[in-house]
Amino acid sequence: MTKKELALEIIKRLKKEYPDAGCTLDYNQAWKLLVSVRLAAQCTDARVNVVVQKLYAKFPDVKSLAEADVDAIEEIVRPCGLGRSKARDINACMKILWEQYGGNVPDDFDALLKLPGVGRKSANLIMGDVFGKPAIVTDTHCIRLVNRMGLVDGIKDPKKVEMELWKLIPPEEGSDFCHRLVYHGRDVCTARTKPYCDKCCLNDICAGNGR
Ligand code: SF4
Repeated sequence: MTKKELALEIIKRLKKEYPDAGCTLDYNQAWKLLVSVRLAAQCTDARVNVVVQKLYAKFPDVKSLAEADVDAIEEIVRPCGLGRSKARDINACMKILWEQYGGNVPDDFDALLKLPGVGRKSANLIMGDVFGKPAIVTDTHCIRLVNRMGLVDGIKDPKKVEMELWKLIPPEEGSDFCHRLVYHGRDVCTARTKPYCDKCCLNDICAGNGR
């Protein structure tokens, strides 16, 4: 089986296993996903989903976060870790959205990358989830799983993994595929324990089975 054939088979099986897999960060407006992805660095999505409720109770829109005192944002987001730098980025990012984009999130990958605190992973997430465009989100689950599965060989750098996956994954499948990897990485192909290969739907085609 070529890597491309393997990728298509994995996509097919994960679709069946996790038909409704979507983004695990809660949001109902594009700018809120930008806030959440910044807070999610080194923090669980579950905690971010709780913290943002308090944040939006005090700062309900782009303008109020753009005009907010960084200290006031930090006080609320501190439970997510890296409070100071996350608060600074959120404030600076919302300022740019407010001043340059009329309070909207740009639907352009390069423009997203220029926003404070937004890297390739976040920009891809926004492109895929908010704008329905092709996206490959190489988070920690994605990188661990595609290495174990044999879709990439010993590559840990997120951008290099992304570039390899673009060659294998049909563009329209990328965003959902990466969401499904998160589910599979949490439930079955876990990081901290030995992966549960015996109950994995990929165990007859995965290079990492039993290792
Ligand atoms: S077979 Fe094992 S290593 Fe491969 S994806 Fe499943 S749990 Fe992970």
